[in-house]
Amino acid sequence: MRRVMIVALVLSACPIIRGDEETSKRWWAHVQALANDGMEGRNTGSLGHKRAADYVAAQFQKAGLEPAGLVGYIQPVQFKTRRIVESASSLALVRGGKTEPLTLGEDANISVRVDPAPALDAPLVFVGYGLNVPERSINDFAGVTLRGAVVVYISATPKSLPGPLQAHFGSAAERWRMYKNAGAVGTLSIANPKSMDIPWARSTLARLQPAMSLADLSLDDALGQQLSVTMNPANAEKLFQGSGHTFKEMLAHVDAGEPMPSFALPSRLKATARVERADVESQNVAGILRGSDPVRRNEYVVVSAHLDHLGVGEPINGDRIYNGAMDNASGIAAILEVANALHDAPTRPARSILFVAVTGEEKGELGSRYFVAHPTVPARSMVANVNTDMFLPLFPLKTLMVLGLDESDLGANIRATAEAVGVGVQADPEPQRNRFVRSDQYSFIKAGIPALAMKVGYEPNSPEAAIAAKWTAERYHAPSDDLDQPIDLSAAGTYVEIVRDLAVRIANRPDKPKWNNASFFKRFAIMSQINQMK
Ligand SMILES: [Zn+2]
Repeated sequence: MRRVMIVALVLSACPIIRGDEETSKRWWAHVQALANDGMEGRNTGSLGHKRAADYVAAQFQKAGLEPAGLVGYIQPVQFKTRRIVESASSLALVRGGKTEPLTLGEDANISVRVDPAPALDAPLVFVGYGLNVPERSINDFAGVTLRGAVVVYISATPKSLPGPLQAHFGSAAERWRMYKNAGAVGTLSIANPKSMDIPWARSTLARLQPAMSLADLSLDDALGQQLSVTMNPANAEKLFQGSGHTFKEMLAHVDAGEPMPSFALPSRLKATARVERADVESQNVAGILRGSDPVRRNEYVVVSAHLDHLGVGEPINGDRIYNGAMDNASGIAAILEVANALHDAPTRPARSILFVAVTGEEKGELGSRYFVAHPTVPARSMVANVNTDMFLPLFPLKTLMVLGLDESDLGANIRATAEAVGVGVQADPEPQRNRFVRSDQYSFIKAGIPALAMKVGYEPNSPEAAIAAKWTAERYHAPSDDLDQPIDLSAAGTYVEIVRDLAVRIANRPDKPKWNNASFFKRFAIMSQINQMK
């Protein structure tokens, strides 16, 4: 009640609403609780993650949520973990009887996100963007044979595709589906140096960390993939020598948004991989704020954020704890504060709100994938998803970046919600970074559920854009994403209020949210309806 009155007061006093100071303070207290060194970076399956999950469960209880896990608020999730033993693994290019070893860590890495075969020797075929999308008349596989080959592609998508489609078809899961259908056995991806979130020198430090997949093999997107290699773009010319093409020339095509040729490379790739394997359990945390309408209370607006981060890893500047304060203690703190605010509100929304803190996001959105496959409420009762991942309150919240803004009629809900607090909305200004499929909302989208994800927005080439870019280059997935960094508390408070008001607005809609007819993602809703009828 009190908070609502303060908002009304501020509304009349000044046009730009500042986040409620109390909300901001409590939000920051949750961030501190989740991202302090004692949580050890909340790696999926770790004790630190378990402690963080217990904290979330305790906060859900305090907010009066009904437990919606299997054991109270907790839904246990089983994982398989893999770690590369680099000393017993190798990569080499073989050409004309000559073997040129690639230095692991420097030239290329064997990713254990897929379970690599112990040994592989296969031809390399370059396929440009590496996409085969008949409905858009894109076929990078024309004129080459991928059967038995390792597919080499640049991690980029043609600008002719709308942003959400770039995101969808550029995802690892969709790519492997295409390559597998064409008979390929593995992949070698080369990052586009211009759109790398993290420079190679830093990203390669993570190569010895364990990767994970869900123990439930029916949810493994990489089934059948025998090798996944990531190549340092600075050394990628090695692959093209003798092909009649250069990597530089290919990057110029990417920059210009032009198609690239596809051709067999002159080398074969020889790989050996030794992997240590183990099983671990981690936790999703779920709780329900029960709605007030006798019918709609059995439908759920899912408000989600991921709880896990990267744990303890290679030190950078003497710090080995990857605290993940913004990624994504900030998002969990936001949903905890939304739950808290709704608990204190005088009226309940019509539909129920299902709060879910998911695990395994950093391992490939695995906890949300599991939750959607094994929901703790009836699958068809989840009518919308609002996800928060690293919303980055680094400067005042004037514009909200909304991923999925133009895909469903939730777009109108977020526009109205933001407008009511004097905040503008924008679609993702950088669709090439694939943000729409790079967090947990995508698990819900693929199950047919309309979804939005939001961040503090900025205009391209603005001082704010520079702050966000600097943050990404220096702190994203680094130990310095910790409690000692400049944060705009008022932006965080406003963000929390927007998520709260959006969830309530969706929960009070008379009708269920719908995909826009023109949306590419509508197909998932149609597919899931067909599956449910079977
Ligand atoms: Zn992350």
